[in-house]
Amino acid sequence: MEVLDRKISTTISSSGNEKIQTQVCIVGGGLTGSSLATFLGKQQIPVVIIEKDWNEVDRIVGELLQPGGVQQLKNMGIEQVLEGIDAQPVYGYSIFRKGKSIQVAYPLGDDFSPGMGFRNGKFVQNIRSLLNELTSVTRIHGNVTELVYENEQKISGVKYVTEEGKIVEVEAALTVVCDGIFSRFREQLNAERHRVTGFFAGLVLENVTLPTPSYGHVFITDQTPFLVYPITSTSARMLIDFPGEQPPRITDEFREMLKSKLIHDMPEILRPAFIQAVEEGKIKIMPNHKLNVKPILVEGAVLIGDALNMRHPLTGGGMTVAFTDVYQLGKRIIDYYQHGIFETIDQAIQDFYSSKSSHTGSINILADALYGVMSDDELSEACFNYLAQGGHYASEPVSLLSAISRNKKLLTKHFFAVAWFGAWKKMKKSFSIQALRESYFMIGRATILVRPLLLAEKPSWLMKQLLAFSNLLYKK
Ligand SMILES: Cc1cc2nc3c(=O)[nH]c(=O)nc-3n(C[C@H](O)[C@H](O)[C@H](O)COP(=O)(O)OP(=O)(O)OC[C@H]3O[C@@H](n4cnc5c(N)ncnc54)[C@H](O)[C@@H]3O)c2cc1C
Repeated sequence: MEVLDRKISTTISSSGNEKIQTQVCIVGGGLTGSSLATFLGKQQIPVVIIEKDWNEVDRIVGELLQPGGVQQLKNMGIEQVLEGIDAQPVYGYSIFRKGKSIQVAYPLGDDFSPGMGFRNGKFVQNIRSLLNELTSVTRIHGNVTELVYENEQKISGVKYVTEEGKIVEVEAALTVVCDGIFSRFREQLNAERHRVTGFFAGLVLENVTLPTPSYGHVFITDQTPFLVYPITSTSARMLIDFPGEQPPRITDEFREMLKSKLIHDMPEILRPAFIQAVEEGKIKIMPNHKLNVKPILVEGAVLIGDALNMRHPLTGGGMTVAFTDVYQLGKRIIDYYQHGIFETIDQAIQDFYSSKSSHTGSINILADALYGVMSDDELSEACFNYLAQGGHYASEPVSLLSAISRNKKLLTKHFFAVAWFGAWKKMKKSFSIQALRESYFMIGRATILVRPLLLAEKPSWLMKQLLAFSNLLYKK
């Protein structure tokens, strides 16, 4: 099958290929591409969206959407995609560390709805199903092989290959590339390089009751952090972190290791479902990536979603970033289209890129900072005790994690407050040169950890000076 919906006519290009003309061409029909096509299609903007696999896929990624991400769906008027898939509301996090646990509720107030847990495949299919109703959107089944350059500075569309091996050209005023985690085209539009930071092993715990129902669960252990959150009314996703450059191999030894190492850090209530999942062996491995944003400006094209920007999935921020990209870019495209100034769309693209950090920077910084904190015994203890104080010590950090707040200053304040709090506790326990030394190094490790993350997200002039000063105290 090539064209799923033939809503537009084709011509023949100078090179003899079939050619389609449209306003916006979207590469990739994942949650980013499909939600953008829907958002634009609802405003009757002509869109062609090309996806290489429209079938439902069984993946371990993108299954907990934070309240800030739900808000973006509402902004686009597509929140109904959370219905009819047994999605589960999530009201906050339970955090477990060395036999203790705390619960931190999302500060939803009147404006925000809870987060949602679901099966990724079902959720993506729900978004894709909205495309059927839109007459200005043409869905194409094809593998995009090339971004077509009119000249070095301008992209005028794409070429894709059909299942039968036929090459088809799409000419578009704007090409939006959202080909995701394993993007083929990102290097043409982002000067930053992505790197693998580790792996998540994913299991589904069936027929399970969670220690705190309707909450996400984070386990900070001596072995490795792991997460558990509801994805249907009877099942939960478990993700186990494996740092390093090589993925773990799923062997009998690996299964035994999982059982023997993690079982003791897990409340009794989860153990039977965990053992069953490990023994049944449906374990999937996915790489985790880091990718900062440094756009290469080429006329007629823009990059969004995981193709543009990735962070550690520990905090479940990826879909919120992707939907924020879609909303921020989409509303600019709609505005330019409705005002009849689409020929100047590149200004809107520049504006989108310039403002991106103010919308998604806090999510990116927090994800990698928190992952670093969890991998450091002293900092993770400080973080746990800091949150355990409750009040704004808990509600403000979790407002950042849930993307209810996107305030980078608030994030920086709490991040350093955690390190100072840990240092102060240490000094209070035993005031000695040794404690002073350890406190100094603890603050240093926190500083070295967060400095590159802050620098990558457009820090203010003052922040840059402070970070430069910190470099005198704590050199990497
Ligand atoms: C282990 C893990 C767990 C995660 N958990 C969460 C979570 O709980 N919450 C959260 O918010 N985020 C999570 N994320 C991040 C989240 O999954 C991503 O941010 C999100 O899936 C990005 O969506 P996307 O549409 O940009 O990319 P993708 O989901 O990668 O979609 C890209 C699409 O493009 C298509 N495509 C690719 N190349 C071509 C081509 N050449 N031609 C045509 N089509 C093409 C693909 O088939 C695919 O459908 C997790 C990530 C990982 C790695």
